[in-house]
Amino acid sequence: MTEPETTPRTGKRVLLAKPRGYCAGVDRAVQTVEEALTLYGAPIYVRKQIVHNKHVVQTLEAKGAIFVEENEEVPEGATVIFSAHGVAPEVYEQARERSLKAIDATCPLVTKVHQEARRFASEDYDILLIGHEGHEEVIGTAGEAPAHIQLVDGPDGVDKVTVRDPNKVVWLSQTTLSVDETLETVARLRQKLPLLQSPPSDDICYATSNRQHVVKEIAPDCDVVIVVGSRNSSNSVRLVEVAVDAGARAGHLVDFADEIDDAWLADARTVGVTSGASVPDELVQQVLAHLAERGFTDVEEITTANERLTFSLPQELKRDMKAAASRG
Ligand code: SF4
Repeated sequence: MTEPETTPRTGKRVLLAKPRGYCAGVDRAVQTVEEALTLYGAPIYVRKQIVHNKHVVQTLEAKGAIFVEENEEVPEGATVIFSAHGVAPEVYEQARERSLKAIDATCPLVTKVHQEARRFASEDYDILLIGHEGHEEVIGTAGEAPAHIQLVDGPDGVDKVTVRDPNKVVWLSQTTLSVDETLETVARLRQKLPLLQSPPSDDICYATSNRQHVVKEIAPDCDVVIVVGSRNSSNSVRLVEVAVDAGARAGHLVDFADEIDDAWLADARTVGVTSGASVPDELVQQVLAHLAERGFTDVEEITTANERLTFSLPQELKRDMKAAASRG
């Protein structure tokens, strides 16, 4: 009897994490730039990287987006889009002063943290914002109430915390942190401030925690976990750390498949693959093709959650799209 022709089994396999890649906030932000380019025409200015991914930024640049660091680089009267990470109120003010047409692509889950910060500040709380110093999201959130907010950059930042009234303190966080490290930071804060209040709902977003959860599931079976994502993407960097903490022998972050070093795969039988929340899936497919060329043809997708959340486009853009459509 002749054996049917199949791909030869090599004993090398890939565990592919799901959920991975684009979250609802990134999808909305990228679509916002694309729709703005279609509606208003190029160039469209974007303050900061719309999402922290090299490929996405390069692709939008090729379509006519111009990425700037600050509003003052945008010509007066032009259209500017604020990135998914959110901005401080002063950035809206600067845009008004320069007569810019501002479109806010801040993820609604970041906006929720801004609203919490404003509310607790208005009630005169001291707010301990757990997050990474210098990250755009943290700068934006802290800008909501600088006099009330102090940054706590991980468990080691707890010692420096001082508050006016230990009975009136709340913690908030950046949306893309390590869930486990944040719990550790909060536990350390509680030792110091037993009456510390928690945010009304989780600030670490569903996408961040879901991506970390599935990586924890696959990591113990993996010789190496490859995370597709950029170095300035907080949630992507966290996935590498989570993979190694959860038992993967090694973890590596790559923007593109050709950054994978063959030495990482030399003794590996099982490779885990995932991607950060700002990564289009075509980059993951390129990694799978790269691995298949090296004998990792057996791909098993491990699913721990199905995500269905979507966010509608910013109101100011939708209004203009509707007006354009009614003009025919
Ligand atoms: S990672 Fe979370 S907070 Fe950030 S854009 Fe995505 S859904 Fe929003």
